[in-house]
Amino acid sequence: MYQDCLSCDLRFEREQGYFVGAIYINYAVTAVIAIAGYFGLDHFIGLSLAPQLILWGSFAVWFPLVFFRYSRSLWLSLDYIFNPEGPGV
Ligand SMILES: [Zn+2]
Repeated sequence: MYQDCLSCDLRFEREQGYFVGAIYINYAVTAVIAIAGYFGLDHFIGLSLAPQLILWGSFAVWFPLVFFRYSRSLWLSLDYIFNPEGPGV
């Protein structure tokens, strides 16, 4: 990952541990999709517990890996919306 944006020079990692918030976003999106998916499949299809656990368990493993860079991007955009000047500027 670049340290700064190539076009606008926005600094990406402003301090150590900056992207911990992205982990929260990643976890929250994963949990919301898995829980909603579980209850959705249970309600509309009536899928039993064992296949649901296999499905959403494996989803909870691979989805955060795929969504990792998007959660960083979301975290950056949230920080840029609420604090565009950055810390101490
Ligand atoms: Zn930029």
